Amino acid sequence: MSNRKVGLSSQAYARVLEYNTNRRTRLRSERLCDSCGQRPRTQNTRCSECWTKEQARNKAYRNQLMRQVILMYGGKCICCNELRFEFLTLDHVNNDGFKERRERGYRGGYGFYKKLINIPLREDLQVMCYNCNLGKARCGGTCPHAWDKK
Ligand SMILES: [Zn+2]
Ligand SMILES: [Zn+2]
Ligand SMILES: [Zn+2]
Repeated sequence: MSNRKVGLSSQAYARVLEYNTNRRTRLRSERLCDSCGQRPRTQNTRCSECWTKEQARNKAYRNQLMRQVILMYGGKCICCNELRFEFLTLDHVNNDGFKERRERGYRGGYGFYKKLINIPLREDLQVMCYNCNLGKARCGGTCPHAWDKK
């Protein structure tokens, strides 16, 4: 979280920075939480309460970003029209996800979504629910739902 406030002069900003550095040094010597300055630090520089809150914030942020990418790519499963974000993932159209995993070290997690948010839509990716994604992988590239449609 940044301490820079809109309209703060550079002098005032330097004072804020100095204050924060002093605060951190003091808290470190007293082994108190960097965030609340009240409870003893147990998780690195945070108390467990602040640490838990921070984890929850990070998780919410990651979810928000992944949701945005899923929406960018259509926001629903191209096979069964599932709309619930929690069920959705990005599927490699040509089933070549393993190549990308190998070549770029991508594991399908948050880092992958973070890259996608800033680039134009990739034609080799589509939104699928986990069900269809797995069904497709298990059945040679076609989700078993396709059998029903015939
Ligand atoms: Zn704390
Ligand atoms: Zn589906
Ligand atoms: Zn399907």
